[in-house]
Amino acid sequence: ATPVSIMVGTGLGAQYGVLIKNAEALEMMEKVNLLVVDKTGTLTEGKPKLVAVEVESSYQRKEVLHFAASLERASEHPLAEAIVDSAEQEAIKLSPVSDFSSVTGKGVSGNVNGQTVAIGNQKFMESINIELGHLSKAILDYRSQGQTVMFVAIDEVFAGMLIVADPIKNTTQEAINSLHAEGIKVVMLTGDNQDTANAVGRKLNIDQIEAEVLPEDKANWIKRFQDEGYVVAMAGDGVNDAPALAQAQVGIAMGTGTDVAMESATITLVKGDLNGIVRAHKLSRATMKNIR
Ligand code: ADP
Ligand code: MG
Repeated sequence: ATPVSIMVGTGLGAQYGVLIKNAEALEMMEKVNLLVVDKTGTLTEGKPKLVAVEVESSYQRKEVLHFAASLERASEHPLAEAIVDSAEQEAIKLSPVSDFSSVTGKGVSGNVNGQTVAIGNQKFMESINIELGHLSKAILDYRSQGQTVMFVAIDEVFAGMLIVADPIKNTTQEAINSLHAEGIKVVMLTGDNQDTANAVGRKLNIDQIEAEVLPEDKANWIKRFQDEGYVVAMAGDGVNDAPALAQAQVGIAMGTGTDVAMESATITLVKGDLNGIVRAHKLSRATMKNIR
């Protein structure tokens, strides 16, 4: 009787847009009591938009956007896409980039029109010895609204900031509430700044918020929770999330995310709606009850 129940279970899941790869995943889902989620693309839409540009007095807004977008055209990060899209909308003609390099979870640098350009978070700027001077109070305001602030340096001098917003999916809050009702603890792991992460996480009632986590450390966090005795599911969408998805007892990919994430996961949420995890949890319980 076992395989039939499992087949029925996975079939029902598919109707809800929850693709379950194997019997093991369906069985394990019932035992999950901690869900780790990535912020960008998992809790949020994952389509960040540039909402503000702040420049130092020695630069024009268009100049900074030109250098930034020219550099970011070589990056595949969703933040990079937001910058390039915005420059294109403003009809800014981009220049070729050479000597491009990318530091995962931190930022990018390269040469544009003979000038060195770097874009990234505060840690990235510190690591390449860029003096940010006194940071405006505006930064705190942006971050407290859950927005991401990126710093731009041109020829090793701070030139401005790019501010990006990525709205929370309209299905996320309901999903977090239902997960809590199912007795599942929810932890957010993100590479983003602490203040930005707190703004998003607190709004959603997330139980634990870990920010400025480097991609390679996401899997370590999951291991730590497992050592504490939790049965962990991880939901993520990015290339960077693959090791964490593999480490978790149940890896859950957003169908709207990267192929790499879907390959590393045993469950895929076709529409990227986290409510699918609640459904899978209930489905697992019903299926296993049927078998017992
Ligand atoms: P997430 O956990 O949201 O997927 P990442 O680990 O990819 O975040 O990146 C962490 C931070 O590093 C970003 O919030 C951003 O500040 C910076 N960063 C990463 N890639 C880039 C890039 N291509 N351009 C500018 N900043 C970047
Ligand atoms: Mg992500």
